[in-house]
Amino acid sequence: MKNENPTQYIPYACQDISDEDIAAVVSVLKSDFLTQGPKIVEFESKLSAYTGAAHAIAVCNATAALHLCCMAFGLKQGDYLWTTPITFVASSNCALHCGASVDFVDINPKTYNLDPIKLAEKLKWAKKNNCLPKVVIPVHLAGQSCDMKAIKALSDEYGFYIIEDASHAIGGDYHDKKVGACEYADASVFSFHAVKVFTTGEGGAITTNNAELVNKLLQLRTCGITRDQTQMEGGSHGAWYYQQLSLGLNYRLNEIQATLGISQFSRLDDFILKREGIVAKYNEQLDKNNLILPYVKPNIRSAWHLYVVKVREDSNVCRKDLFDYLRSKNIGVNVHYIPVHTQPYYQNLGFKSGDFPISEDYYAHAISLPMHTRLSMDEQDYVIKTVNGYFK
Ligand SMILES: *Cc1c(COP(=O)(O)O)cnc(C)c1O
Repeated sequence: MKNENPTQYIPYACQDISDEDIAAVVSVLKSDFLTQGPKIVEFESKLSAYTGAAHAIAVCNATAALHLCCMAFGLKQGDYLWTTPITFVASSNCALHCGASVDFVDINPKTYNLDPIKLAEKLKWAKKNNCLPKVVIPVHLAGQSCDMKAIKALSDEYGFYIIEDASHAIGGDYHDKKVGACEYADASVFSFHAVKVFTTGEGGAITTNNAELVNKLLQLRTCGITRDQTQMEGGSHGAWYYQQLSLGLNYRLNEIQATLGISQFSRLDDFILKREGIVAKYNEQLDKNNLILPYVKPNIRSAWHLYVVKVREDSNVCRKDLFDYLRSKNIGVNVHYIPVHTQPYYQNLGFKSGDFPISEDYYAHAISLPMHTRLSMDEQDYVIKTVNGYFK
């Protein structure tokens, strides 16, 4: 029977856990290793094989992954990191944790990703003013890769490191390569938080083609210590011996999480197909007179972590009213994101509302509709009917 009015709350995002996932986790709980063991290594090799990057390093979440990358690139006081205002706060907080400064580059009005044209203008200005960034973090919003060829060309010209925040984009493609292949970036960062494309509960990873970076990341991930004799200063004292060579943290993933990740990974491509099916239906049926639907550039396959629509400027409906109405109808809409520079913490650093007008305009109109692999046809029909009905 068709459920016309699902009474159950429909979340904007939701994990998709199978019986196989549960069985895999139960089996690892009965195994010899819960913290560091073979499953992490297996998960990492699956990630590097899938993305096409030479190396993958699993960590406890993407926030930690971003911080570790910044540490490994030597970001410090006096340095600048640039990113987009339309992201989760972790993409810029990583600079502050290293004592560095943050600045932002406004977004492209169609893709909502960091705009390479604005980046080029700002770099020209920064060169004159002697404040070029050491690191730029493009964020692949909603699962669509940024214009990495253009950003890489600017990195070649101005000499900054590129860390892709691909937290939304595992499974996506950029010009016939998987996101995370690092053809146009020094490192890519992924999140396996429960709301993301696939999950390890909490979890994250870094991919890179830079072997030297891998050694630094591995050390920093585990308190700055190494057990590798070839890296030690002086000789080993014996089989128990380790040395601390840098000031790191405990940012490790564990065997339970890695096991869930391996099991989820086997369904990643199916997850993306399912998300694409949901997108096709939204694109076809949502009210385009009142909503701007997502735009994806040619040669990009989005991983569709999010489905973000904008309420049109000339619609007689305002976003907040639509949001409140949909929530009242048990539809778990959300907003991604509040521009980071408007957060009180960042305003205290000197940023002002009005600094990044395209981001602020986007924020005023954006709304994320339910987008996850357990969204049923009936639920999606209900979402579409409810959204479109509000404009009538
Ligand atoms: C989720 C997310 C993060 C942080 O991921 P965690 O794994 O929760 O630490 C960072 N950046 C973006 C863009 C995200 O969406």
